[in-house]
Amino acid sequence: VITFFLSLNILFGQEVYKNKKAPIESRIKDLIKKMSLNEKILQLNQFTFGINNNPNNIGEEITSLPPGIGSVIYFTGDPVLRNKLQKKAIEESRLGIPILFGFDIIHGLRTVYPISLGQASSWNLELVKLNCAAAAKESVLSGIDWTFSPMVDVARDPRWGRVAEGYGEDPYVNAMFGVASIKGYQGENLSDPFSIAACLKHYVGYGLSEGGRDYTYTNISRQSLWETYMLPYEAGVKAGAATLMSGFNDISGVPATINQYTLTDVLKKRWGHDGFVVSDWNAIEQLLNQGVAKDKKEAGLKAFNAGVEMDMKDGIYLKYFKELVEEKKISVAKIDEAVSRILRVKFRLGLFDEPYTIIVDEKDRYLQKQSKSLAQNLAEESMVLLKNKNTILPLRPSVKKIALIGPIANDKENIMGAWSFNGKATDVESIFEGFKSEFGSGTQINYAKGCDFDGTDESKFSEAITAANNSDVVVVCLGELKTWSGENASRSSIALPAIQEKLVMELKKTGKPIILILSSGRPLELVRLEPLADAIIEIWQPGIAGGTPLAGIVSGRINPSGKLAITFPLTTGQIPTYYSMRQSSRPFDKQGHYQDIPTEPLYWFGHGLSYTNFEYGKAKLSTTKLKKGEKLKVSVVVKNSGEFSGKETVLWYVSDPVATISRPIKELKFFEKKEIKGGEEYEFIFEIDPVRDLSYPDENGNQILEAGLFYIHVNDQKIEIELL
Ligand code: BGC
Repeated sequence: VITFFLSLNILFGQEVYKNKKAPIESRIKDLIKKMSLNEKILQLNQFTFGINNNPNNIGEEITSLPPGIGSVIYFTGDPVLRNKLQKKAIEESRLGIPILFGFDIIHGLRTVYPISLGQASSWNLELVKLNCAAAAKESVLSGIDWTFSPMVDVARDPRWGRVAEGYGEDPYVNAMFGVASIKGYQGENLSDPFSIAACLKHYVGYGLSEGGRDYTYTNISRQSLWETYMLPYEAGVKAGAATLMSGFNDISGVPATINQYTLTDVLKKRWGHDGFVVSDWNAIEQLLNQGVAKDKKEAGLKAFNAGVEMDMKDGIYLKYFKELVEEKKISVAKIDEAVSRILRVKFRLGLFDEPYTIIVDEKDRYLQKQSKSLAQNLAEESMVLLKNKNTILPLRPSVKKIALIGPIANDKENIMGAWSFNGKATDVESIFEGFKSEFGSGTQINYAKGCDFDGTDESKFSEAITAANNSDVVVVCLGELKTWSGENASRSSIALPAIQEKLVMELKKTGKPIILILSSGRPLELVRLEPLADAIIEIWQPGIAGGTPLAGIVSGRINPSGKLAITFPLTTGQIPTYYSMRQSSRPFDKQGHYQDIPTEPLYWFGHGLSYTNFEYGKAKLSTTKLKKGEKLKVSVVVKNSGEFSGKETVLWYVSDPVATISRPIKELKFFEKKEIKGGEEYEFIFEIDPVRDLSYPDENGNQILEAGLFYIHVNDQKIEIELL
């Protein structure tokens, strides 16, 4: 086909790469043939643009960008400027190759959605896909083609600030939500008008940064790499992720940026990924800090040869590659391959055919009704009711006065979370606003800030205590500043600052019931707060629309349905604690204990309460013994025996008590969320495919399936099966 098209176009004197109808591979081939080495090298670089957001500087920035560059990381998100830059690229470069505009759309652009960790707690894949699709639309209209999302780094150390950005502690959950978001961003086809390219990051193992400190090394055996960290990437690549970003970490000594094994042997050769890999911000230059390159030139050489096609921001590829080709350290064939990968993504996005952004009014660009309601639905489903003593929630109609207290109660900035650069506090609904509209004029909302997020100033306590004394119930809204999580935002303790804890202790003395609302980018240490609270709701950082759903949960208009995608340790000292720990020589709950604190975390992965009661029937199996080629159906009927309609997520786990290597206590293999009305029931079914669900990877990533005993776990049931 390629040759056919090439000859046809020669015949008619048309440039094949400009021909919309020609197959993409022919267009790439044609263009590569026409490109000079310099033009090729330019494609391998991403420049920053608008980082200082200085409008006076922008003209200068535009002129300083060489025409013909591969990509810009586009901080301004302004479609008019994009078109200017694009025009320059197309009209002032010899071949008119369009620029790929990338930016971090992590949980929405202007419409800010809940942080990813919150999204995972919704267990609602469809909603996540829809919110990513809506975020993609805002991005396209803002001139952005490519997002550096999703982050699918399995994260089990909540001191690490970036736990907020991923989908929690479990590989399968990260895989499923990663895939959902890729499908949302990329749509059916990258060339769809409102699709953007996704970027799986940070490949791979970054979540294990030692001590929860950002940018540190990671010690990951090949066994753990395959068991825990690779799955979400493999799933994302299979789902068609256009690009990947390599991580800042090293993998047992070999930085992810120069890791030939992960970048080439696995990603390109084994999984067949045909898009490209971009380095993380400054990561090529940082190879010098990591002690694996003597200078920038060597750093660039190593990164490129290992399989990083695009240099984010460092300009190292641009500066040294001509020399490196001349010195025969990099082959032209390898440059061609890398450029082809970048061009492939550009062609797939339709950039050559529609390089400019259609300019629409701001009111049609952002915050569309549908995206706002998606943000609200997702916020609603992500909120987790952690505790509800004596079913204090929902509030009884007799409650007529609510004290609404705490630094997050009337906050609009921090509940957006990290990576919300384009979000505006004026678009955000605060908890206070949500309560006022939910409860109406018949209920008095007595607001008092109580204290700041941190510090020692107790002067606002008295006002809060008065508000509490004048109310039937106290809703205390505590939490983290948005800068306390995200990149380079680790904390040595995951407890809230003492001032916030003290506020609750003082409020408790009023004798009023305490409802604790938590907004955070990580699990929190609640060892001192939990005993003081009658109810606790974790709302994460819900984005623009958290107030109404939270107020709805408190009033009982909404039945909470979130469940934790990450364990809440009792204290920071329990880190790491996650449900799928490997079996060890003495059982976790009996012998392997701390002397000074219990071993059990406060809330396990999967914990989350509802206002109704879901009764699980006895699980049924299609067979208890199965052969390798067969499948097994296990089902459980769940009855909503209460009055509230509610959504229940059934989590199906598997464990392998006897294997060649010690396996995790249990592993999540499937989940399903379903609304069940009061009095009704639903049969949840999990079809087990032994090759997929009962096997485990060896240290080369080959699936090993061993016959013998397995357990399926659902709710508190442990069901025995045998693989023959
Ligand atoms: C982060 C990435 C991000 C990139 C571009 C880096 O510092 O680690 O997650 O996509 O910057 O903003």
